[in-house]
Amino acid sequence: MRKLGIGMLLLMLVLLTGWWLTRPPSTDLIFYGGPVLTVNQQDQVAEALAVKEGVIVAVGDVASVMAHRTADTQVIDLQGRALLPGFVGAHEHPTLTAVFAGAHDLSGFTHQSNAQVWSALRQAIAATPPGEWVYAGGLDAILVPDLQVPMREALDTLAPDNPVVLISQTLHSAWANSMAFREAGVTADTPDPGTGSYYERDADGGFTGFIAETRAMAPFVEGLRAPLGLAGRYGDTLDGYLSQGFTSVASLGYNLPPWLARLVALRDFQPRIRQFFYLVDSELQYLPDTPDHDDPYFRVLGVKLWHDGSPYTGSMLTSMPYLDSELGKTLGIEPGSHGAGMIAQQELVERLCHYSREGWQVAIHSQGDESNRQVSRAILEALPAGAGQRQVRLEHSVLLPPDLLPALAERGVSPSFHINHILYYGDRLADSIIGRHVAQQVLPVRRAFELQMHPSLHADSPMFPTEGFSLMQTAITRQTSSGQVLNAAQAITVQQALRAMTINAAWQLGIDQQAGSLEVGKWADLQIVDQSPYAVPAKRLSALKVEEVYLAGALQYRRE
Ligand SMILES: [Zn+2]
Repeated sequence: MRKLGIGMLLLMLVLLTGWWLTRPPSTDLIFYGGPVLTVNQQDQVAEALAVKEGVIVAVGDVASVMAHRTADTQVIDLQGRALLPGFVGAHEHPTLTAVFAGAHDLSGFTHQSNAQVWSALRQAIAATPPGEWVYAGGLDAILVPDLQVPMREALDTLAPDNPVVLISQTLHSAWANSMAFREAGVTADTPDPGTGSYYERDADGGFTGFIAETRAMAPFVEGLRAPLGLAGRYGDTLDGYLSQGFTSVASLGYNLPPWLARLVALRDFQPRIRQFFYLVDSELQYLPDTPDHDDPYFRVLGVKLWHDGSPYTGSMLTSMPYLDSELGKTLGIEPGSHGAGMIAQQELVERLCHYSREGWQVAIHSQGDESNRQVSRAILEALPAGAGQRQVRLEHSVLLPPDLLPALAERGVSPSFHINHILYYGDRLADSIIGRHVAQQVLPVRRAFELQMHPSLHADSPMFPTEGFSLMQTAITRQTSSGQVLNAAQAITVQQALRAMTINAAWQLGIDQQAGSLEVGKWADLQIVDQSPYAVPAKRLSALKVEEVYLAGALQYRRE
C-alpha cells in the first residue's frame, strides 16, 4: 500500500466523499409475469414484487402488488422468467481471485490434456515481451491426469528470456525457471522459510524449480500483487460474482485492506455488492475495536482460523490413512499418513472464548473427521450449551462426523459445505486419495438441515468457479463429473439447496433479517433467472442463466 502515494490517497478521499454526498434514490420497481421464489419460511412462490427506495414493499398476487404503482414506478414484465433472492456467497476469496486473475489460465476447467496446458503456456510466453514476468496459474494434476510437472530446466528451454512462474490450482505450490529465481532474489544461499515451505533442491543442491507453500512462493508472485492492477481486477472479480447472481459475498481471509476493498467496490460512487470480511492472523491489525453491524454494504464479522489443510496435499486431518496411489505420489501425499492438526487444543479453546466474548464470529477451516472431532471438543469446552447463535462457523466440512452435529447445533454452530469436492474431485477422492468407503461419508448436508444448523454451500473461489446453480445441482444430485454418486443419503431438495445459497448463508453472516429471501421490509437484492430452478430437472440446474441482478433495487448486471 505504501506504493500508492499521497496523490492516490487524496483521489480516494475525494471519491469517498463523493459517494457519501451523492447517493441518489433508486428507482421504484414492480416485477410481474413470472414466478417470484420468495424463499420465505414456506418457500412460497408469489406472482409479483414491488420495490420502493431499495426495499421490498410488497410480495403477493399481481393485483395487490400493482396497488403500489405510481407514475415513477418502472414496471418489469418477467415474461416467464423467475425472480429469486440474490445469492449470498458464504465463503469466497475475492482478493486471491483478483490476484490470480492476473495470471494466464492453465487450469483443468479450460484445458483437458497435458498437450493443451503446455500449448497455452507456450502461447503465453510468446505473447510476453522479453524480460517481463509470465504468470500462469491453475496447474491441476487431478483434472489433467497426464499433466507433466514443469521443472526448472524444461521451463528454461521454453522461456530463456522471461521469468516464468506457474502456480498450482490448490495455490499450495509453484514451479519457476532460472530467470524467475534470479529476479525474485532467491539464490543458493537463500534459506527455506521452513514449516513445510521450501525451495526443492536436487542431489547437487541446485533448484529443481518446485516451490512448496505460500511463504516460499511470495517473492515470485509480488508482481501480481501490485496495488493498482490488483484494485482493477478486484472490481472485475466482484462483477464476476454479480454476473452469477450474487449480491453479497463473504471473504474468508487473504483480503485487501478493508478500506481499500470497500473503495474499489464502488461503481459511480455506489457500492456494487455487499462485502463481509473475516480476517486471518496476518490481517488482525484491521480488526475494529468493536463489531459494527450497521453498515449495510461492508462489515468485518470476525476471524478465520485453520485447523487442517486439504485432501489434495495430504494435509486434511483424518483418522483414516491416505491411500497409496499414483495420483497421491504426484500430489506429494505420503501413503498411510493422516495429516496434522494446526492449532493446539488449549489455544483453540482460548481463542474461541476470547473472540466470542468480544462479539466476533470465528470461522474455522476444518475438513477431516479427526480435525472436526478436535474442533468440536474445543467448541463444547469454550461455548456453553444454548450459547449465542452463529458464533462459530465450520468451513468446508468434507468429513464431518454426523454424531458431532447435535451438540454443535445446540451451540448455534453452522457448517458451510465445500460441495464441489464431489463434482470436480470426487472420483479421485474415492479411487486415489481417501478410498471408496470414506468417500461415501462426505459432506452431511441433509443432516445439518434436519438439525436446523442453517448450512450453506460455497465455491471457495479461486479454487472453484463461483456458480450458485452448479453448487445447488451437486448438493441435490451428489454426482461427480463421471456420474458417480457420493453419499446419496445426504442429498437435499431443490428448495433446501436454494435456501443454502440464500437465507442460510445470510443467517451465517447475520443479515437474515435484511437479505436472503423476498419478504416485505428486506433489501431488494434480486436476480432474474431464465427459468425457475423449481421447474427444471436437478441435472439441468447448472445450465440456468442469470439475466439481471439488482442490489437494493439498483441494476448491477444485465446479460448481453
Ligand atoms: Zn477458503
